[in-house]
Amino acid sequence: MLENNTISSNKNILMDPFERSINYLRISVTDRCDFRCVYCMAENMTFMPKADLLTLEELYRLASIFIECGIKKIRLTGGEPLVRKNIMWLIESLSDKIGRSNLEEVTITTNGSQLKKYASDLFENNIRRINVSIDSLDHNTFKKITRWGDLGQVLEGIAHAQEAGIRVKLNTVALKGVNDHEIPSMIRWAHSNNMDMTLIETMPMGDIDGDRTENYLPLTEYKKRLDSEFTLTSSDYKTGGPSRYYDCKETGGILGLITPLSNNFCADCNRVRITCTGKMYMCLGQDDSMDFNKMMRGNASDQEIINLIHKSINLKPKSHNFIIDENHKKPAVDRHMSVTGG
Ligand code: SAM
Ligand code: SF4
Repeated sequence: MLENNTISSNKNILMDPFERSINYLRISVTDRCDFRCVYCMAENMTFMPKADLLTLEELYRLASIFIECGIKKIRLTGGEPLVRKNIMWLIESLSDKIGRSNLEEVTITTNGSQLKKYASDLFENNIRRINVSIDSLDHNTFKKITRWGDLGQVLEGIAHAQEAGIRVKLNTVALKGVNDHEIPSMIRWAHSNNMDMTLIETMPMGDIDGDRTENYLPLTEYKKRLDSEFTLTSSDYKTGGPSRYYDCKETGGILGLITPLSNNFCADCNRVRITCTGKMYMCLGQDDSMDFNKMMRGNASDQEIINLIHKSINLKPKSHNFIIDENHKKPAVDRHMSVTGG
C-alpha cells in the first residue's frame, strides 16, 4: 500500500522541461530472453546478476508510485517479459489498478514464444492489446534473425492471442538484405489477419556480434518503395508515441513507421523507462539514468521516491543521440535494447 502522503506540487501530472506530458511508463521486467535476435544481442550475452533484479513486489511498488504521479499507461517489456517467473502476478496486480487510479491501460511487448501458454490469462487480466515482434514469415529467415526462435510457435501464439480476444499489433525491424524483400507481403498478411503493423529502424544500442550499419535500412527511403506497391495516406490514428501512421488503401489496415534515425521523433515523446534493476532512463537514446534500486531496497518513503521521480523527469533530454552510418559503427548507447525495453 502507498503511504498516506501527497504529491505537494504537480499532482497527477509529470511534465518535463520541454512541456511534454509524461504519462507512459515502460518497464523492462527482465533482460533475459529465449531468443537472440541478431540486431538486439550477442549470442553469448552476459545478463545482469539475478541479485540486482528488483523483485516483482518491488517493481509493483515502484510502478504504483509512478501511477500516483500521473502515469496512465504501462507497457511491460524486456528481454522477453513472459519468461520472467510469476510475471502474471505483476500483470494481475497492475491491471487491478485500471479504472481505480490514474492507470488506464496495461500492455506488453513480446516475441510471442510464450503466448500459447499465457494468452487467456492475459485477456482475463484486462490485457486487450499487445505488440508482437516478428521480423519474417519465412522459417529460415526467422531462424537466421532470432537465432533461437521458432516461427511456428510464434504464429501459434499470435493465433491464441487473437482467439482469446486480444488485439495484436506486429512490430518488424526492417533489415536491409535480410527481410526488406518480404515486408510488402508481411504487410498484406498482417492486414488480412486483422493486425496493424509497425516497421522499426535498427537502433545502435549495445554491442552485438556483428555490425549493424550493414543492415540499417532508412525507412524514409524504404517508404518510396512501399509507395510503389501501396497507396499510403497519412492517418489520423495517433498513440502519442513515436510511430507515424499511414492508412493503406489496398489492405484497409494501418502501417506505422518508427524512424528514430532518418526522422527524429523526440518532439512527441511521452514516456520514460525503468529497467529490471530499477534504473530509470529518461531517454531510450541517451545514457543518463537515475537509480531507484537503493531507494527501493533501503527504507525510502513513498514521498522520497516521488521526489526522485520529479527530479528525474526534470532531467529528460530534448532528444536522443542516435547516429548510424559508416563513420559511427560503435553503439550510441552501451546498453542493449533488452535492458531498457523497446
Ligand atoms: N522480447 C520482446 C520482443 O522482442 O518484442 C520485447 C523486448 S524487445 C527489446 C522490444 C522491441 O525492440 C522488439 O520489437 C525488437 O524487435 C526491438 N529491438 C530490439 N533491439 C533493437 C534495436 N537495436 N533496434 C531497433 N529495434 C530493436
Ligand atoms: Fe529477445 Fe526481443 Fe531482443 Fe529478440 S528483440 S533478442 S526477442 S529481447
